[in-house]
Amino acid sequence: MSPEEFRAFGKQVVDWVADYLSGVESHPVRSQVRPGEVRAQLPAHPPEQGESFDAVLRDLDDLLMPGVTHWQHPNFFAYFPANASGPSILGDLLSSGLGVQGMVWATSPACTELETVVVDWMAELLGLPEHFRTDAAGGGVIQDSASSAVLVACLAALQRAGGEVAKRGIARRHTLYVSEHTHSSLERAARMTGIGADNVRVVAVDPETLGMDPAHLDALIAEDLAAGAVPTMVCATIGTTSTTAIDPVRAIGEVCRARGIWLHVDAAYAGVAAVCPELRWINDGVAEFADSYCTNAHKWLLTNFDCSLLWLADRGPMIDALSILPEYLRNPATASGEVIDYRDWQVPLGRRFRALKLWSVLRWYGAAGLREHIRAGVGLAQEFAGWVREDPRFELLEPHPLGLVCFWPRFPELSTEEAGERTYRIMESLNESGELYLTHTKVDGRTVLRFAVGSPQTERRHVLAAWKRIQEAVG
Ligand code: PLP
Repeated sequence: MSPEEFRAFGKQVVDWVADYLSGVESHPVRSQVRPGEVRAQLPAHPPEQGESFDAVLRDLDDLLMPGVTHWQHPNFFAYFPANASGPSILGDLLSSGLGVQGMVWATSPACTELETVVVDWMAELLGLPEHFRTDAAGGGVIQDSASSAVLVACLAALQRAGGEVAKRGIARRHTLYVSEHTHSSLERAARMTGIGADNVRVVAVDPETLGMDPAHLDALIAEDLAAGAVPTMVCATIGTTSTTAIDPVRAIGEVCRARGIWLHVDAAYAGVAAVCPELRWINDGVAEFADSYCTNAHKWLLTNFDCSLLWLADRGPMIDALSILPEYLRNPATASGEVIDYRDWQVPLGRRFRALKLWSVLRWYGAAGLREHIRAGVGLAQEFAGWVREDPRFELLEPHPLGLVCFWPRFPELSTEEAGERTYRIMESLNESGELYLTHTKVDGRTVLRFAVGSPQTERRHVLAAWKRIQEAVG
């Protein structure tokens, strides 16, 4: 493709995206295709001769679009939001256009240095502690996902706990602590690091708050120590995936500090809410106790996937765990020790210029715009929760301080299991209608509906219409 062809098709693509975003509401929210339907329409073999980009765009419209679920739809209330925004899309396009591979500082200094600036800006915007800043002992880095972030944290924790783990491997039984509501990426990290799924200890939760019980955590650690294990990492979650429950980070941190265990704080969804000073209470205890902290700009902060922010209080153990300098990467800047090579802060070697999209978002919206976005989502979710509370046919799960509301229809005549089945069927019928999309979880064996508000396209009228549809469906 020549630069002139690129210019022509590029303009068409930008128009396509602009039309898509402005007309997104005309699509069914959840794709209506059956398994295999998209694939069956695509050729079984790759083209021998090149084709025009027009043909790609035509097939995108005709063959792929029916199989797309519209995450940017204003009636998308499923999972957690995965916001995209104009500045983010354009920043990502610029990154693709530059085609930079920023594995070490020397392979594109701006890629590294912009990343340092934006992670430090983000730490300031979220009110995170000074020691998370790059000029202190810690520092931040952009990862592809919270799952990768916790894997890196886990490797650092192992290095700190086991001393020579990076060189000699795991010589003893290491244990990792989660609650039943911790994200599954923790068990993944345990599997991948060699800690092993059986050494993931599940701490009890407070039945009211669903937050991890620090006394039970301490008891499990004592038990494991007595059995000769090396308690290595605790994961506290700020905003669990199921219900946005918040683990008591401060009390958990005190246990970790007393026992010398790494505390990772997973705030993948909720952490970005701290751009609003009135929501910073969610991070209570992070400044004093967190060894690592992660939040996803690619969920609720208007930055399209992938852009997960990981900070460390002390980057030393992570670098010790991951740094290897093969001959082919040697260069004067690395040798000078004056630069950061973010390849030592992640699992892959190569890295995209992700900072560009976050920088674009931060500059376009400013801190004030980001606060407005978060507050709009929280405000709509609170209003929705108020409607649920007032309707005697429904029960509301408290608390719901952020953009997620969990609730369930009451079916007093049915057993918990039957009520769960009925709730699930109602949800599926709503999702099949294409009018809205919501997901479910289980809390204490009960099937609970999750309604997550957070798309910049979602207005009060969408939330109200969704609530009316849910009421109708329950009858
Ligand atoms: N942690 C929490 C609390 C989450 O809710 C999620 C995803 O929803 C993750 C981790 C995983 O995020 P990622 O897809 O960035 O790995």
